[in-house]
Amino acid sequence: MDGADPHIHVEESVTRHDSGARSILAGTFGLAGDLPETAATGCGLRVPFAMTSHRPESVTCLACREHARAQHLRLAEQTERLGTMPGSAITGAQAGRVAEHHRALAQRFADGP
Ligand SMILES: [Zn+2]
Repeated sequence: MDGADPHIHVEESVTRHDSGARSILAGTFGLAGDLPETAATGCGLRVPFAMTSHRPESVTCLACREHARAQHLRLAEQTERLGTMPGSAITGAQAGRVAEHHRALAQRFADGP
């Protein structure tokens, strides 16, 4: 890493640290000091972990923004489908709220910093 890439990227799995998981991990890492050094990005690079963000407003790599937007839209659809399945663990209303969350994030990635 020579620092030539000034962009902030998203991790390839943009939802891996979504919602409460991230703060739990942060607390854990605070004790363990075991953050991964590099992360695979949505645009196919491997960058220092510090050069990634899950906040739409912080991500400056256009390819990563598009990647994250598509992932969140897909997750919204998957969640809605889950909510309509008979015997599903979540209700349609719950699924709707989660889908809305992902659509909002997708929109923030689409809007630009
Ligand atoms: Zn990128």
